[in-house]
Amino acid sequence: MAEIVVVAEHREGQVREVTLQMLSKASELGRAHGHQVVAALLCAGSDGLVGALEGRADEIVVYEDDRLEHFDPDAYADVLGAFLAERSPLLVLLGHTAWSMDLAPALAVRTGHPLATDCVDVLLDGPAVKVVRQVYSGKMFARSAFRSAGSYLVTIRPGSFPVGTTSGRQTTITRASVPVFSAAAQRRFAGFRDSSGGGVDITQADVLVSVGRGIGDEQNIEPAREVAALLGGALSCSRPVVDKKWLPKYHQVGTSGKSVKPKVYLALGISGAFQHLAGITGAGTVIAVNKDKKAPIFRAADYGAVADALDVLDALKAELLKK
Ligand SMILES: Cc1cc2nc3c(=O)[nH]c(=O)nc-3n(C[C@H](O)[C@H](O)[C@H](O)COP(=O)(O)OP(=O)(O)OC[C@H]3O[C@@H](n4cnc5c(N)ncnc54)[C@H](O)[C@@H]3O)c2cc1C
Repeated sequence: MAEIVVVAEHREGQVREVTLQMLSKASELGRAHGHQVVAALLCAGSDGLVGALEGRADEIVVYEDDRLEHFDPDAYADVLGAFLAERSPLLVLLGHTAWSMDLAPALAVRTGHPLATDCVDVLLDGPAVKVVRQVYSGKMFARSAFRSAGSYLVTIRPGSFPVGTTSGRQTTITRASVPVFSAAAQRRFAGFRDSSGGGVDITQADVLVSVGRGIGDEQNIEPAREVAALLGGALSCSRPVVDKKWLPKYHQVGTSGKSVKPKVYLALGISGAFQHLAGITGAGTVIAVNKDKKAPIFRAADYGAVADALDVLDALKAELLKK
């Protein structure tokens, strides 16, 4: 039996969703292949963080030290480098996030294990470990196999897997001793600034009302925002809407925007370019409204209306206000 390690990412005392997504994938692989799932948690205060991970891994290995409170790539690489050398897991999953841009290559150099980045799936095929990545801006999926190495590092694009529920595992909590850091801290945590502008986080919304160039004019954004609010959701958009400065960048869905996973995605006046569709692969029900019945978005939609987006917005608003 081998181990699949998930490096737990957290921010401001909360476990980040990508960690839960990776644990859900690790559990699936663990169940199918008889491997143990291990979460590696580096932090200063572990109480709330351990609680969020319990039941999702067979073991949580906790390294607690003041220097690990905030992400410090040097300290984290020291601790994880020692941990991986001791455990030699089959697979190490890290989020493809700002953390791992720095940490994953450093770990690959320290451990000598091969690294595949920005993966949207991992497959265990007999002794072979394979990964799936999007290429050509999401137009195609490429499956690659690692050369045989024994241990493999993989960074996972957020939104690639559902969070899932706890797998009901009996979790053992191991308090590990923190190794001596190889150097004094070179960086100091200055503070956390939310890139979503403190307001909308489209990656967390259950309902997204998304507008494209077909919305026609900046003044038509407001009705879409109102409908999104009435539905208890958020407003998102395609890239031209950002390029025209009708909405800030943090609303943008797609390869150069965000990957989203709402239960309902309502696309208004969006043609369905592959760069946009790559951002909604995790969406539940996709509803498209487009004047052009041949628009590619209809191929990705569960429901479609060949209609004017503004008419649909007006009708929806009137209907929702009746309630
Ligand atoms: C490197 C790269 C990265 C990119 N990244 C992204 C990305 O992250 N996200 C993204 O969205 N795009 C991205 N793009 C751009 C992408 O290729 C498309 O150009 C873009 O998605 C098109 O946006 P759209 O559907 O809003 O506009 P269009 O393609 O112009 O489509 C507008 C649609 O609205 C319909 N329409 C017009 N009027 C109405 C109306 N009144 N009612 C209903 N429908 C109407 C039209 O029939 C049309 O289908 C990227 C491109 C490149 C090259």
